[in-house]
Amino acid sequence: MFILKTKTQLEKAIAKAKQIRPRVRFDRFGRYRVSGSKGGYYTVICKRSDNNYKTVECTCKGGARGLVCYHAAAALALHTGLARQRTTV
Ligand SMILES: [Zn+2]
Repeated sequence: MFILKTKTQLEKAIAKAKQIRPRVRFDRFGRYRVSGSKGGYYTVICKRSDNNYKTVECTCKGGARGLVCYHAAAALALHTGLARQRTTV
């Protein structure tokens, strides 16, 4: 799990996601499944903590160690788009 503070911490992961183009499947708002490089899916959970930090959790090895992985970046791209739609409705 990592806390999302700035966009720059995502830059590398976004670049990798653009290269690999994983499939992102919508589970429910804040919960996504992203295809892994070796097949299968990882679950990414985006939420706000009690102190209003955005936190992102991924079930892959890197994510478990607190790294910003490309699964998280791919899921976040979808999540922020959905969150924007939500606030305007
Ligand atoms: Zn991951």
